[in-house]
Amino acid sequence: MTAFTCIGDPARFEIAVRWADDPEPRDLRPAHGGWSTGDLRLTVAGQVLTRHQHDGRTYDYVRWYLFPIFEWLATNWVALLHEERPAWRENSAAPAVTAVFLALRRLIDAEDRAGQARYADVQAWWRRHSLRAADPSALYPDIVFRRLGDDVEVSWTARPPAYAPDGFRFVSAPGAATLPIPDVAQPLWGALQWVLSAAGNLSGEDQRSLVELRSRIGSLSALATARLEAAYLPAKLFDRIEKARSRVGTPPDGSGSIGGSTRMASVPAVERLDDAVLMFGGVSPDIGVRDVQTLMRFLAAHAGGQESPELSALVDSTVGAPLSAPYEEGYDLAEQFLEERDLPGSASAVDVRALLATLGIAVKERSLRTSTIRGVAVAGPNYGPAIIVNRSSPYNQNEAGRRFTLAHELCHILFDRSRARRIAHTSGPWAAPGVEKRANAFAAMLLMPRDLVRRSVPLEKLTKDTVIAAAATLDVGVSALVEHLYNTCMIDEFKRDELRIALRDPS
Ligand SMILES: [Zn+2]
Repeated sequence: MTAFTCIGDPARFEIAVRWADDPEPRDLRPAHGGWSTGDLRLTVAGQVLTRHQHDGRTYDYVRWYLFPIFEWLATNWVALLHEERPAWRENSAAPAVTAVFLALRRLIDAEDRAGQARYADVQAWWRRHSLRAADPSALYPDIVFRRLGDDVEVSWTARPPAYAPDGFRFVSAPGAATLPIPDVAQPLWGALQWVLSAAGNLSGEDQRSLVELRSRIGSLSALATARLEAAYLPAKLFDRIEKARSRVGTPPDGSGSIGGSTRMASVPAVERLDDAVLMFGGVSPDIGVRDVQTLMRFLAAHAGGQESPELSALVDSTVGAPLSAPYEEGYDLAEQFLEERDLPGSASAVDVRALLATLGIAVKERSLRTSTIRGVAVAGPNYGPAIIVNRSSPYNQNEAGRRFTLAHELCHILFDRSRARRIAHTSGPWAAPGVEKRANAFAAMLLMPRDLVRRSVPLEKLTKDTVIAAAATLDVGVSALVEHLYNTCMIDEFKRDELRIALRDPS
């Protein structure tokens, strides 16, 4: 048996392939791809995802016709490495492999036309991102690839394939890894080159299928960077950004151009997204031209700036994407931050505006036409750090709400940076739910630290009036306080519901 060709680093992402002898005569194998019997081994973060048990034996690789995998990879290359948005409404922080599975389950029985169309959209997304879509008859592990900012998220479960024989099971525990784009794109691209060079002598249809794959791979190499980054955003939105980009351009002093996407040298993949493209990742696809221009001007105005050494020292870009418990992570990050800065001290409320001023973070208020954006944050090596508070958002109608938005954006600035240590993030229902939940928890804990709550909230005598008075002292919203008391286990569910009802009562 020939040795595997291994491409990549198994501690991050490795694909290993080899051809295998097939005792079955060619004419009894599938007409399409039946020439390509081989072994595939995939290793992510040290876990061999193709490892499975069958008939009491353990195998590290899957043996099947490999050609459909390469066809799927070449056909869906751009989406696989550049598309982040789900094709459905997602409120959880679950990795894509779980989120897409549950979305399909929710929609599969839809009887109305709109529901069926939504199901078709989710299924099309699944086909672009899921390895199992490459060949439904194969026994591949359940793995989904999708972009996350400047990373790729690879997530997997041990769910058995649809047609698994008795006694067949994958052994890897479910998991997810977020990896830099090159760590995944380079091995996958290498695998495509491998099949072209290692296919041997083929004839007839087999030969033609390989020629077609070669041409598909060739056209990928020739794709313009804009075509790659366009896959990150809905087409209409990308088009608006392109127009605004040419209008707003770079700052007049030329000091800080707005990013520009960085493409890998020999692989058709965007390693680092243009700042504007990244910023619009969390925006409704229906945002208007005026708002696009407002946000682009904001980005341009802060490009070329610098952040204070004090802020730089607090930034932690190793925190990574929240995968398991965003609320607990948000609380923990806020408590660490408060402790390092000796907050709240003896003050009766946390002065978040003063805190931002100390860190050199500018605060701008804007009335966007859309109410779906709550706030925007930019920061990084080439930016003067700044936050937009959108006056049109229902969250920002009073000072308590605006303070919450500022604390939420501070969390993004400190902990949600990309590998290039920059952030261009819009907050709202279109942003990734995991980072949004974490930032909300951070904001709640920053403005309502446990000490301060114990000092100002009469936990034993909580009534509508005392909770309203306590919220006023802390300068936070009343319902934000009630939810926070419950989420931090200072009151039980019964008390929370009683207060909710009392606060709804107009008398
Ligand atoms: Zn946010």
